Amino acid sequence: MTTNLLDLDAAGLNEFFAHMGEKPFRAKQVLRWLHRFGESDFDAMTDIAKSLRVKLKDQACIVPPPMLSDKKSEDGTRKFLFDVGGGNAIETVFIPEVDRGTLCISTQAGCALDCAFCSTGKQGFNRNLTVAEIIGQLWQANKALGFDPKGERIISNVVLMGMGEPLANYDNVLLALRLMLDDNAYGLSRRRVTLSTSGIVPAMDRLSQDCSVALAVSLHAANDTLRDRLVPINRKYPLAELMAACRRYLPSAPRDFLTFEYIMLEGINDRDADAHELLRLTQDVPCKFNLIPFNPFPRSGFRRSSAERVRRFAEILMAAGVVTTTRRTRGDDIDAACGQLAGQVLDRSSRSTRAGKSIPVVETAL
Ligand code: SAH
Ligand code: SF4
Repeated sequence: MTTNLLDLDAAGLNEFFAHMGEKPFRAKQVLRWLHRFGESDFDAMTDIAKSLRVKLKDQACIVPPPMLSDKKSEDGTRKFLFDVGGGNAIETVFIPEVDRGTLCISTQAGCALDCAFCSTGKQGFNRNLTVAEIIGQLWQANKALGFDPKGERIISNVVLMGMGEPLANYDNVLLALRLMLDDNAYGLSRRRVTLSTSGIVPAMDRLSQDCSVALAVSLHAANDTLRDRLVPINRKYPLAELMAACRRYLPSAPRDFLTFEYIMLEGINDRDADAHELLRLTQDVPCKFNLIPFNPFPRSGFRRSSAERVRRFAEILMAAGVVTTTRRTRGDDIDAACGQLAGQVLDRSSRSTRAGKSIPVVETAL
């Protein structure tokens, strides 16, 4: 059986080469070829002895998920669709901004957590993505986007905010994160990699020990009654436990605050009183808020809060001294097409009705 080298981080590659009777520096060389230079052809790895290249071709392969489409929006946002087999596709979105380029990647095909407002959740869970499929999104997007005129990579930041709950695919996500941070691979700093979670408390604790990248927590409600309904994992890990986990995460976090994501649902969680309750809930956690106007999809049963309501909600939070940004959806002109395409692919094998998931975003301070 051949090993897909994109499934291995530095430690895994070391082990793989040790099994072949090779020295660790060979593993490091190959790691650099794979991730720093995006090479997929063993013959191009010119500083590796020919005899070793022959052995590698026999025992290993380099296989990222195949790209099904690459759509460019008028505002520069790009949406990639990757085939992950079995009729499933995942989406990866690149969002250019003035001072950075952010890639939003997926970690699961579907999601089991079934948040009430999320189209990925409505598709049900298909499976965890492999390390090669997770890091392969960055590998492929780097290839497609390349470098700026100064020789810097266009992709400077990664957010795990696409399809799936990253902490429900812990082991594979951890290896992919390690590759993102590895100087011989992508060399991103911990503050340039953000993991978004719906709040799987024990896995947040593990992450703080194993690889404490920037953390965004999808809060969406300030009391257990509403959060139980919107984010069902709350029934297992209620708000008091979640807030305690956030406080435990902070000492190892790359910045001295966390981000709370808060979706704006008209008439559900967007009243002045909800903002005040949110402030009370989070008063002991140094944080910033990121308000996300709801992205509607068919039969969701929710409506997006008006721009005026979002502005007022943000004002209340900011008046209390908490930095608050509002997410602006970009790439609208390609969202629909790509969302539908993912839906069509997924429909063949899952209980999906339609995948209207529109991956975010750009943040604008109000
Ligand atoms: N599972 C993780 C990460 C993926 S979802 C999590 O829940 O955090 C990334 C973000 O998109 C989350 O904050 C999620 O709440 C938000 N989201 C999901 N469905 C949305 C929708 N229809 N409109 C706007 N944001 C949505
Ligand atoms: Fe899963 Fe996140 Fe969607 Fe909830 S919001 S169903 S955790 S992807």
